[in-house]
Amino acid sequence: MGLIVGLEEKLPSGFLLTTVEKLAGYMRKNSLWPATFGLACCAIEMMAAGAGRYDLARFGMEVFRASPRQADLMIVAGRVSNKMAPVVRQIYDQMAAPKWTIAMGACASSGGMFNNYAIVQGVDHIIPVDIYLPGCPPRPEMLMDAILKLHEQIGNEKLGPNREKIIKEVEAAALAAKPIHQLKGLLA
Ligand code: SF4
Repeated sequence: MGLIVGLEEKLPSGFLLTTVEKLAGYMRKNSLWPATFGLACCAIEMMAAGAGRYDLARFGMEVFRASPRQADLMIVAGRVSNKMAPVVRQIYDQMAAPKWTIAMGACASSGGMFNNYAIVQGVDHIIPVDIYLPGCPPRPEMLMDAILKLHEQIGNEKLGPNREKIIKEVEAAALAAKPIHQLKGLLA
């Protein structure tokens, strides 16, 4: 009798029903490859998340790719200077689609304490962002939590006409929303 390692015991012995959306979401969320890419101090925490103590490999995420063409997750770790902005955008454009972005830390999310002419006041001015992660810097546990939340989001993503319907609904809600504050910095 062969050795049974455990997974087989948990699988249903008959057949399994699911939808194409669920299956695609399951495969996508479990095969994310982040781009090797760090901008400032937050990147140190991102590196720690990949090292032995926190071990991002537990979630199949240890394969940081050196080429954007092999990556589908951008973790913007650190402040984005105006000079760096076109480079960030180019890397994003070169990444394989579908792709996702995490703005890691206060600087990437909103400019943080760097409210000045040199720093982009939130990376969402240049690329779409799926998860905003607060903190200065966020700890590796927080990054891992953000990644797990992104996994959840990807797992529930719709495809085809369902996806178009959701995009239209989100756009309509954004257009109907009232501004809650003036986007003026401290220097305005
Ligand atoms: S959020 Fe804090 S730790 Fe991260 S890049 Fe900005 S200053 Fe550095």
